[in-house]
Amino acid sequence: MPSFEYMPQWTIEDVKQHGDIYVASGTYSEIVENCSKCGALGPLARHGSKTTTLRDAPIHGKQTTIVVRRRRYRCKACGATSLQPLPDVDDRHRMLRRCLDHIQRQCVRQPFSQIARDVGVDEKTIRLVASRHIRELSQNALSAAPRQLGISEVSALDKPRLLFADLERSCVVDLLEKKGARSLAGWLNQLNSRQTIRIVSIEMRQSYRETIRSILPRTSIMVSRRHILAIADQSFDAAVRALSDRLERKARLNLIFNWHLLTKRSCELTPAMRPVLQQLLATYPKLEGAYQAKEQFHDLYSLDSRTKAEAAYAVWLKHLPDELRRAFRPLLTAMSVWEMEVLESWEHPVREDVLVLANAGLKAVNRLGKGYSFPILRARLLFGQPFSGATFTCPGCLGTYPIEIREMNNSTTATWCPNCRRLRADRWFMPTGR
Ligand SMILES: [Zn+2]
Ligand SMILES: [Zn+2]
Repeated sequence: MPSFEYMPQWTIEDVKQHGDIYVASGTYSEIVENCSKCGALGPLARHGSKTTTLRDAPIHGKQTTIVVRRRRYRCKACGATSLQPLPDVDDRHRMLRRCLDHIQRQCVRQPFSQIARDVGVDEKTIRLVASRHIRELSQNALSAAPRQLGISEVSALDKPRLLFADLERSCVVDLLEKKGARSLAGWLNQLNSRQTIRIVSIEMRQSYRETIRSILPRTSIMVSRRHILAIADQSFDAAVRALSDRLERKARLNLIFNWHLLTKRSCELTPAMRPVLQQLLATYPKLEGAYQAKEQFHDLYSLDSRTKAEAAYAVWLKHLPDELRRAFRPLLTAMSVWEMEVLESWEHPVREDVLVLANAGLKAVNRLGKGYSFPILRARLLFGQPFSGATFTCPGCLGTYPIEIREMNNSTTATWCPNCRRLRADRWFMPTGR
C-alpha cells in the first residue's frame, strides 16, 4: 500500500479537488499499546473512531486539507477512552507539523496575510505561530562576536535604529530598537567573546568612538571612506556654489549645465566629456583649484599604504589654496578630529559595501513590514532576508526562499524548493491503489 513518504505510517485513500483546494482523506496505522491515562499495557479495545480535519502545507500551489479517521480506544483496566495519537500533527493548531514548519519558515519572509491565504487559515493563527517562533529565534540569536564589525545608524519603521553587520562574512548581525551610545554600550557588553572584535567601522560620532574605546580598548576604530569622501564632495560642491554665485547669469547657467561633469571622478569621464570639462576648468582657474583638491583627496584612496596616505594628505593640506579653506572647512574639521580613524582604513581593508547592502536589505524588509512590530521587523532582517536580496517563490508550496537554495528538477524545468522535496508532492500525492 503506498503511503506518505515523509510520514510512513499514513495511508491516503482519496484525494478530491474542489477548485483550488485539495481534500485528502486517510488513516494513520500505528496501534496504541498502552493506556495514556493509567499506563496499563496490552492492546486497548476499539471504541469507534473520530474524524479530524488537518491543514497541510500547500501542495501544487493549492490549499491542502487532510481528513483523518482517528481510532478511539477504551482501556479495559480503567475504562478511560482515548484518541489515537498522531505524532506528525500539531494538535494545538490542528495542522500537520510540516505545515507548522512551513509557516515558521515563511513568517520571516512573507506578509502574514499572504501566508494565511496560501495555507487557508486565519491570519491570527499565523500571527500566533510567528510570534512564538520569532521569540525562540531571538533567544538563540548571535552568540559569537564578528572580527570585523560595522555599525551604522539607519531608519526603520520611521525611527532611527542601530544596525550591526559582520563585514567579513557579509551578513547582518543585529538591529537595535534605539540608536545612541547607551544602546551601543548595552549591546557590546552583552556580547560573548567581544574581545575577538579586531576592527569596528563607525560613522563620525564622538559618543560612539568613546563608547567603543572604553569597552574595547584594544580594538581599532575606523571611519569608512564612504563617509569621509561624502564630506569631501560636499565641500567641493560648496566651493563651486561660492564661485558660481559670483558669476554673471550666462556664465552661471553654463556652470550649472556642466555641473554633472565636475562631480564625476576624472576616471569616469567619457572621451566626449573630457574636452568639455577641460574647457570649463580653463575658463575658471578658481574652479580648477577646487576640482584638483577634490580629485587629489579622492586619490588618497588609491595609495597602497597608510604611511603614503598620511604623507600625501599632509602635502594636500599644505597646498590647499587659502581661498578654498572656507568651503572645505567641513572636510578639514572632520580630518582634524578623525584623522587617525580615517587612516585606519589603510591598515584594515574591509568590505565597506556590506553596510550599504545591509541597509538596502533593511529597506526592503521595512517596505514589507508596514503594520508589524519592531521584533518582527528585526527577525525578518536577521533570519529571513537573504543578503543578496534575491528570492524565488516555489510554485509547489508557495514558499519564498533565498535564490541560492533553488534546485532545478531534472525531469522538468520547474524549480523545487527543499520544502517541496521533503513533501515529495509528486510521488505521494495520489490515493492508494492508483
Ligand atoms: Zn487505562
Ligand atoms: Zn516548495
